[in-house]
Amino acid sequence: TPSPLPINEPVLSYAPGSAERAKLKDALGKLRGEQPDVPHVVGGRELRDGASFDVRAPHDHSLLLARAHEGGHAVTEKAIEAALAAAPAWANTSFEERARVFTRAAELLAGPWRQVINAATMLGQSKTAFQAEIDSACELIDFLRFNVAFASRLAEQPVSSPGILNTLELRPLEGFVLAVTPFNFTAIAGNLPSSCALMGNVVVWKPAENQVLAAYHTMRLLEAAGLPPGVINVVHGNGAPVAETCLRHPSLAGVHFTGSTKVFQSIWRGVGENIANYKTYPRLVGETGGKDFVFAHPSAEIEELAVALVRGAYEYQGQKCSAASRAYIPRSIWPKVRDLMLDHIKQIRMGDVQDFRNFMGAVINERAFSRLAGWRDRLKSDPNAKILADDGWSRENGWFCGPTLVELANPDHPVLAEELFGPLLSVYVYDDAKPEGIDAALDLVDRTSPYGLTGAVFARDRVAVGHAVKRLRQAAGNIYINDKPTGAVVGQQPFGGARASGTNDKAGSAYNLLRWASPRVIKETF
Ligand code: GLU
Repeated sequence: TPSPLPINEPVLSYAPGSAERAKLKDALGKLRGEQPDVPHVVGGRELRDGASFDVRAPHDHSLLLARAHEGGHAVTEKAIEAALAAAPAWANTSFEERARVFTRAAELLAGPWRQVINAATMLGQSKTAFQAEIDSACELIDFLRFNVAFASRLAEQPVSSPGILNTLELRPLEGFVLAVTPFNFTAIAGNLPSSCALMGNVVVWKPAENQVLAAYHTMRLLEAAGLPPGVINVVHGNGAPVAETCLRHPSLAGVHFTGSTKVFQSIWRGVGENIANYKTYPRLVGETGGKDFVFAHPSAEIEELAVALVRGAYEYQGQKCSAASRAYIPRSIWPKVRDLMLDHIKQIRMGDVQDFRNFMGAVINERAFSRLAGWRDRLKSDPNAKILADDGWSRENGWFCGPTLVELANPDHPVLAEELFGPLLSVYVYDDAKPEGIDAALDLVDRTSPYGLTGAVFARDRVAVGHAVKRLRQAAGNIYINDKPTGAVVGQQPFGGARASGTNDKAGSAYNLLRWASPRVIKETF
């Protein structure tokens, strides 16, 4: 029986003096003192094989949060064996029973586990309380609940006739699924293995090395909810040997991935190389980044646009696949938009995310900091680029990249095409003196970057909205009209894009869940 669609988990405010703020502060204090030796989890058992590495807070070099271990080939082999050993019993577990595990996980996360996951995300990934609440707790609760509801509606039965009964059964895939998850969203990290497991699959889960703490607590949450041993197995550390071992295995049945285009392409290549060895064609589902645009029409509401640009570009330090990263603004309104943006940028506070007044934390690690600093240096010395704001960069206590705004004279500049994954927004000011200018700008939006994840169109003129949305049909899998291009809500805006952004199998929707099922049709005659 189909479950009714849930309502989205209400977002708590964390206002000063609120009960949730006090609870979150307690959880932060507790986690700061714990520094766990994080294990791999194989067949329900904790393994601590492999060289250990330190996990530190991105905003505070002196804060050691945890230690974890390089899983490598050996632990991955064990994880695959454990997954395959658990597969028959899990496949024979009814959907209702599997669903109960994930529904219980959602209830625990909505209740006593909420602040553990939020605190782990804040410290480990340098997310503010508000972003952690939305992107970790609420979004993961929603994923877990909506997946159950959507999955319960999938098995639409074929037509039968007198003397013939046709049934369609959604089998799990034959083998195991490799889930590779990113640092930026605890909700995505929890969802990728869980959605596959809900559909009856067994999983080897490789969390990002910079998301170890929240992944550790997410796995403990799933276990507390009754997930049987071996259904999801966690291997930490460098992804390359884990992926290699999985891709070489004849029972690889799928890869559920969120991360960079480059890594997804190398996984796809690895699958290609091994294609003759698999028992079944592996399903490849990937969400792989973006270069998300904001296109403004001359009729755009200016204050709304400026706020959307600032929030879209700088929330979570721009480390969202959906972050506003390139903007196309008409010359007629640019001076006003720019001045408003600069006013907002001046007010941005950045620092330790445990200070609730801060709007931005640090970027994830030194590599990210150096990459972004490299872009900044390059732009500073480029006569075609005018840096309008870049205060706050510092590597002393943490990896802080200040909110950076740059105006480009050249629409083909690589900074308008490549994914940066940081708080750097590039603006191209287009000429709207003649109507052709608008179409030329839409062409630029469509052709400048290889990605196609999210985008936003700002206009009060409804005809202009219709025109832009049609012209940009393939430029984004999620398009927003008069809103920032981030913050898709599970069940409301199924999320994902095509082109270099991924396979567009919309996370948290039926499109995604169906990829983890292999239908069988049974015809019975009487
Ligand atoms: N779903 C998120 C959003 O809409 C982005 C996910 C990602 O960064 O991968 O903002």
